Amino acid sequence: MDEKTSAVTEEKTESRVVSPGVSSRLASYPPPDRWDDWVEYDAKSWPKKVERKYSLIPTTCFNCEAACGLLAYIDQETGEIQKLEGNPLHPGSRGRNCAKGPATINQIHDPERILFPLKRVGPRGEGQWERTTWDEVLNTFAEKIRSALVENRRNEIVYHVGRPGHDGYIDRVLQAWGVDGHNSHTNICSSGARVGYALWQGADRPSPDYANATFILLLSSHLETGHYFNPHAQRIIEGKMAGAKIAVIDPRLSNTASAANYWLSPWPGTEAALLLSIASVILRENAFNRQFIRRWFNWEEFMRTERPTAPRSFEGFIEAIKDLYSEYTPEYAADECGVDADKIVEVAHEIAHAGSRFASHVWRSAASGNLGGWQVARALYFLNALTGSIGTEGGVSPNVWNKFVATPFSKPAPQKVWNETLWPREYPLAHHEMSFLLPHLLKDGRGHLAAYFTRVYNPVWTNPDGMSWIEILRDESKIELHAALTPVWSETAWFADYVLPMGMGAERHDIMSQETHAAQWISFRQPVQRVLRERNGEEINFTYEANPGEVWEEDEFWIELSWRIDPTGELGVRRHFESPYRPGEKVTINEYYRWIFENSVPGLPEKARKSGLSPLDFMRRNGAFAVKTNIYEQHESRLGELELQETRIDDSGRFIKRTPAGERAIGIMVDGEPLRGFNTPSRKLEFYSATMADWKWPEHALPGYVRSHVNWRDLNPANNDYILVPTFRIPTLIHTRSGNAKWLYEISHTNPLWVNPKDAASLGLKNGDLARVSTEIGYFVARAWVTEGIRPGVVACSHHLGRWRLKQEQGTDRWASALVELDELGDGRWRLRQTEGIKPFKSEDPDSDRIFWQEGGVHQNLAFPVHPDPVSGMHCWHQRVRVEPAKGDDRYGDVVVDTNASHEIYRKWLSMTRPAPGPNGLRRPLWFSRPVRPDNDAYVIDEE
Ligand code: SF4
Repeated sequence: MDEKTSAVTEEKTESRVVSPGVSSRLASYPPPDRWDDWVEYDAKSWPKKVERKYSLIPTTCFNCEAACGLLAYIDQETGEIQKLEGNPLHPGSRGRNCAKGPATINQIHDPERILFPLKRVGPRGEGQWERTTWDEVLNTFAEKIRSALVENRRNEIVYHVGRPGHDGYIDRVLQAWGVDGHNSHTNICSSGARVGYALWQGADRPSPDYANATFILLLSSHLETGHYFNPHAQRIIEGKMAGAKIAVIDPRLSNTASAANYWLSPWPGTEAALLLSIASVILRENAFNRQFIRRWFNWEEFMRTERPTAPRSFEGFIEAIKDLYSEYTPEYAADECGVDADKIVEVAHEIAHAGSRFASHVWRSAASGNLGGWQVARALYFLNALTGSIGTEGGVSPNVWNKFVATPFSKPAPQKVWNETLWPREYPLAHHEMSFLLPHLLKDGRGHLAAYFTRVYNPVWTNPDGMSWIEILRDESKIELHAALTPVWSETAWFADYVLPMGMGAERHDIMSQETHAAQWISFRQPVQRVLRERNGEEINFTYEANPGEVWEEDEFWIELSWRIDPTGELGVRRHFESPYRPGEKVTINEYYRWIFENSVPGLPEKARKSGLSPLDFMRRNGAFAVKTNIYEQHESRLGELELQETRIDDSGRFIKRTPAGERAIGIMVDGEPLRGFNTPSRKLEFYSATMADWKWPEHALPGYVRSHVNWRDLNPANNDYILVPTFRIPTLIHTRSGNAKWLYEISHTNPLWVNPKDAASLGLKNGDLARVSTEIGYFVARAWVTEGIRPGVVACSHHLGRWRLKQEQGTDRWASALVELDELGDGRWRLRQTEGIKPFKSEDPDSDRIFWQEGGVHQNLAFPVHPDPVSGMHCWHQRVRVEPAKGDDRYGDVVVDTNASHEIYRKWLSMTRPAPGPNGLRRPLWFSRPVRPDNDAYVIDEE
């Protein structure tokens, strides 16, 4: 734990709790030395004072990627988990959670939960299921995968993940199998921002030091709903309480914008122009950090390549950069973006004044909504680069400085194959797999899947163009075998062959780390009931023995499956699943984590020893560990003597490279010193990207502005055209997994269409009226919410709601879903229609009979075609739509789409790409990161 956090924790745990037994004063957290035997009065017995005794076991929340700490209160009498609250020892969340953390208890006790593995018995999607055994599941998939490996059909195995919840566990499994089968949801989520950040710094995320900033600029609504929601939100508030000002750029008045000092509401898709106009003010007024730019921009490379005839001087570069951005005047931005020029200048001055204490962040929002959205992140980081607020206290650092990924006991070699169904050559710079194109690529005959795992992922509901997903999931000639590994029913699981129940946040193991502040930490997720029972002397072989029903944890599933794929070891798989402590025998999950904590987390064994515990027991008792604190200015750090051994300075006199092999520089000479720099080819911040130029996008070699596919100038008011912003989140819901959390649905259960009063008047819509929203492939019908919280000309609808199920008694949770009919109207046309809204139902939980909400929202994503950005691969979510009052027999929640039209739009966007090969016949730049990176040889396109 960092010293600051430690101090906060001690203050909160030790100063307020005084007496043994029941606390006589209010306490923030039970002190750790009393976690084994914690006593509280039973709230439900009030006014009687009835004591209840608990064992408190830490774990990690699994309801978003922030990995906040939780403490499970296990009733010593019943063995049941009573509640989950914050873990004060967690360096990221510091005992605090958002509403979704404590709601884990709803998920555990959900009466609709799947407790046993299910196998379909009728045609796919018909919804006929029977209970099966885990043995049958494991043997079926082991046989299928083994045949694919033996027959060298290694690209037919695909694991498709929604919420990872771990750092690299599955990478090891897939590489042990030798397949290029990792598929993620990232290109419908954050690839746009990632590409923008990666081009600058070689790391795909920012790690803002909000608590120490004096000015914070957020695109979208990070404070209440953004990435790493709670850990970031609490630090933004800390910064604000210490005097920081906040600016929010968002066409929608988010909760964050409402609490900010500045709300700038530009036309969606013009954000990069707005940011570049701020940059132009900073440049024009010489308010930039000259020293930082001289040392850390790759300005020499820019001058050499883009200004070959000009003198190669820093002053020459400053003149060039001023000239380059001079057209982005505040007046230009006012016209293009629809934001007051004076306000732009004011914000620019605030940023310049904050200097090195300027923190910023864009994650989804504009970067994921627009064609060229990746330039939004690049333009935003330009402001940090100009002010020298990168790597500083109160600034922004590359995320990799603040994340610690532990290595496991065996790391298989990278796979030798490249899967073009996931990484088609049209998208060489895509940050992640082109996962949302899978139905179209399969329809085009570009692949075939023997075994497909969707894992905590619901593409039918979450992705755009869900009906195309249904079509492909039903097609057994394209997907032979599909297992949905999921803690909860979903629209996608309905179309699987097997539905495999997996554990919630308190029922599974994982290690996670996130860049929440200028430090590194790890958090341990663990099955709390198993941990307690083992602590009490029980022997438990598998986590499912302590979980409800036969709910497995995935770590053990993959070990068992891998063992059955290669029982004799002849395929080279088995050895990666043999115990590091008992040669030749199957590794247990306790051994897996024991080895990591004993061997690959610096400082943990020593810390554990001081506490008289083994490293594994230390993590079981604390749930988290601070690896490093106060991490700043890593780019300025000198390479150590050891690192400099067997290196050379290359012919340019600047790059430090390994000798004799390995052409990638490991450091850079700056003012005569061997420094670490950034993880880019130039080891500098790449204002100029040679990669973009080399890979056929020279016009985007610099931070710039790309006209969005939904530019406001293309709207036709006579046609009632609007820009639909469908990307915003609701802070109390989880994309697709909160249907099993009754408290969360009680708070948020509908997603109306935000319409400005001026637009409502011209459309003839009143608050609560039904509106038809038409896209390129169909339409959906939503209820209008007339509000000044949205810019005129723009409508918005949250993507968190609109869950549905096809049968009354089974399918997506009844807390959250409407009963629907799904009709195929012929020729690719589909209609989804609600036949019954959400209503009370009888169950073992009396609350299910108290449901008061009826409309569960509209599944708008179904009506969106795919829009893959030709550079980043990001699905560009924003839509140009036609809005009108509902007509004909339109009903609330209707969605009508045409999947043939959707396929045509996929082809149209595909034609915008500039495919590989790039330089040296490569599929992708070698320096770009890639999940589950294959061997370098697989990067070369073999035209044979
Ligand atoms: S921010 Fe909320 S949902 Fe996310 S990990 Fe933390 S408590 Fe859980």
